[in-house]
This record gives sequence, structure tokens and C-alpha cells, in this order.
Amino acid sequence: MSIIIDDELCTGCAACLDICPYGGIEIVDNKAVINEKCNLCGACIEACLVEAIILEREEIKVEKVDISQYKGIWVIAEHYKNKIHPVAFQLLGKGKEIAELLEVDLSLIILGGNFDDQLEEFCQYGTDEIIYVKSPILKDYYSDLYANILTELILEKKPEIVLVGATPTGRDFAPRVAKRLNAGLTADCTGLDIDLKTRNLLQTRPTYGGNILATIRTPYNRPQMATVRPGIFKVAEKLKKKVRITKIDYKFEKEDAVSKIVKIVDRKKTPINLEDAEVIVAGGRGVSSKENFKLIEELAKVLGAELGGSRVTVELNWIAQERQIGQTGKTVSPKLYIACGISGAIQHLVGMQNSEIIVAINKDPNAPIFKVAHYGIVGDLHEIVPVLIEELKKIKPDEY
Ligand SMILES: Cc1cc2nc3c(=O)[nH]c(=O)nc-3n(C[C@H](O)[C@H](O)[C@H](O)COP(=O)(O)OP(=O)(O)OC[C@H]3O[C@@H](n4cnc5c(N)ncnc54)[C@H](O)[C@@H]3O)c2cc1C
Repeated sequence: MSIIIDDELCTGCAACLDICPYGGIEIVDNKAVINEKCNLCGACIEACLVEAIILEREEIKVEKVDISQYKGIWVIAEHYKNKIHPVAFQLLGKGKEIAELLEVDLSLIILGGNFDDQLEEFCQYGTDEIIYVKSPILKDYYSDLYANILTELILEKKPEIVLVGATPTGRDFAPRVAKRLNAGLTADCTGLDIDLKTRNLLQTRPTYGGNILATIRTPYNRPQMATVRPGIFKVAEKLKKKVRITKIDYKFEKEDAVSKIVKIVDRKKTPINLEDAEVIVAGGRGVSSKENFKLIEELAKVLGAELGGSRVTVELNWIAQERQIGQTGKTVSPKLYIACGISGAIQHLVGMQNSEIIVAINKDPNAPIFKVAHYGIVGDLHEIVPVLIEELKKIKPDEY
């Protein structure tokens, strides 16, 4: 892409100069000239009064892929210390739904060192097949080995959909694989669906700073790849079925990996566990102060719940950052989510709307949170929450 100035049309009026935020354009001999600071944002094109500025695009050649050759859904399992990340089982849950609609097989792909003893358990999560690439070196995550092996496997077996957890590891290898395959990848999806007519995966994710939800499809290439945040989908229900297990022994040496593991450092564990919590009580700006948050904490305590909050409450320093729920915080799906004084902005909703039961307390009957709530209480939380606490305490009087 490049920006071209038609010297014959340019009047040197400098309207483009004023609009350019980067200083990427200057006037030389009464004509506009693009310089090295230009980042092709195109603001000058709109500003030009005589249409002398043109954005020239190279034609992008789309290689035609025979998408009918691609069948099946793959879920890539990520692991640490020989334990599969729960997001893989959540993706199997959604993958199974889509596989049934498309009438194709669902496969769990494990690149690991020592999962032989656990394969039988993994068979219960609705998968039709487990492909287990086994090598001692794969007990740890090597980005280039992962990307190389997966690329090879995908080229050979041609799945039409590949799902990966949007964890730091998944976010690292999924784009590497997509690039090698020239495939589309939608990162950080919060919803997946299928267009049965075209077999296109409908991949929904927040965009433009989280202000809208965009649904993206990849019609021309295969596989369709998506990373999905943990906690978005429910773990597949356990069932007994016959599962094909394909073990592939890879003879790797550490030297085969370009990346080297120097040291593995465990992340500092926090006692806050929102992702696995069955009950969450969350507060928003409506709680009105750090002091008042004690009321929300008390309700959480009575219910044996985790405490959460909107981003505003983190920014105001009412609660710890690890407790933020939403697009830039945690994604949760508890059995019960109680939202107190939270308006229900889209960036908050994407982090909690998959909760089984949502109860919202808000004094504004038109607050968007009520659109996703199963039960709504319109009123002042400072009056409602104490009553709730009192009534809940009556259920287990011995404990209080
Ligand atoms: C890129 C980006 C990422 C973001 N990520 C996140 C995120 O991860 N998580 C997140 O939460 N937000 C996020 N936000 C911010 C989000 O847009 C909202 O600003 C935020 O969620 C609003 O928080 P709130 O509901 O607590 O406050 P408000 O929107 O101010 O709502 C307060 C609510 O409390 C009600 N209320 C007031 N007083 C009472 C009372 N006494 N009793 C009952 N109800 C009362 C009001 O009616 C109102 O509905 C993000 C924004 C952007 C741009």
C-alpha cells in the first residue's frame, strides 16, 4: 500500500498538513510531499479538497483452496505439569455441539510427554478421537516445535476447524500455525456458532475497544482457527463412547527446538479463584465507595462466594485488580452471579454472561444488565443487600 500525490491536481493548500497526526506530509515547492513519517493512515485523503491524494493498494491474491477437502473439528489441549488446561474440556463441549451439526468427528489433540495414564479419562469428554503426539521433550512447551508439529498434522489430516484456548500459550502458538498455513485466525473469541449452509464458523469477539461485538468468518481458507477465552463454554458432559486413539511417537531432541527453555517460573499464586467459583457476588460503581464494598463482601461471605467487580471498581481502588470481571479482566461462568450496582456495559457482560443464573440489583430499571439477568431487583442496593444478608443468615443460623 502507498500514498500517491497527483502533482497536477495538488494546489499546495496544506489542508493535508493540518490533518496529519504524524507529520508525515510536507509542502515542498508548493506541492504536498509524503515523507518517511507517514504511516498510511489515510487521514490526508479525506482532507484533500481537490482529490489529489490517492491510496494505492496492491491487489491481494487469494489462493483458491478446495475447502471441501477439510473435515472435522480439532481442539488443541494445552498442558502444564502434566495437567491439561480446563479450557480444552470447555472447547470439547462447544466443539461437540458444532461437530454434531456438521456431522463430523471431534478430535482432541495432545502434544505431550506422559499422558498415557490419562487418555482413558479424556475419552469421556465427547471426543471421537484423540491424537496424541508423544515425545519426552513435549512435556514442556516449545513454541516452534508446537507450531511445526501442528502445522504438519493439519496439512496431513485437514480439519476444517481448529480451536485453541486463548491462554498465553495458545495465543503464542495459534498465530504461528495460522501464518504457516495461510489460514484465518480469530483471537479471543467470546462466542462460536456455525453457518450450516456454508460450513463457515461464526467467530464472535469484542472489537473497537470492546464497544461492539464483531462476528468474523473465514470463507476462503481452511482450517478456520479461533482462540477462545477460558470460562466461555461449559465443560463437555461426561459420557461413555468408543474413542479412536492415535499415538504418534516423535523422536525429538532438545536441539531440534529453536527456542530454549532457560527457566520455568511458576506464576505467583493468588488465593482469588474467580474462574472456578460456583457463586460470585460482584459490585460496580453503584456500590459508591470502598467502605460500602464491605457490604458486598459480607454478602459474598454469607453465600460462600468469591468477590468480583467491574473495571470501574478496580480503577477506583475499591477491589484488587485480580477481581475484575470482563473483557480486560476474568471470564467467569459460575452457577450464580449476583451483580450489585453494575450497569452491564458490553465489556463487563462478555466476562459473565455465560453464568447459569444472573441476579442483578440496580436502581435503574433500564440498566442493560437486566437484559442478561434471570432475576432482577430494581432498587437501592444499600437497602436490598442488607435484607438479603439477614435472610440468608436465617437459613444457617448456627453459623452466625
Ligand atoms: C477497552 C475496554 C475494556 C474494558 N474492560 C472492562 C472489563 O473488563 N470489565 C468491566 O467491568 N468494564 C470494562 N470496561 C469498562 C466498561 O465500559 C464500563 O465502563 C464499566 O463496566 C462500568 O462499570 P459499572 O457498571 O460498575 O459502572 P457504571 O456503568 O457507572 O454503572 C453503575 C450502575 O450502578 C447503578 N447504581 C448506582 N447507584 C445504585 C444504588 N444505590 N443501588 C443500585 N444500583 C445503583 C446505576 O444505575 C448504574 O447502572 C472496559 C472499557 C473499555 C473501553
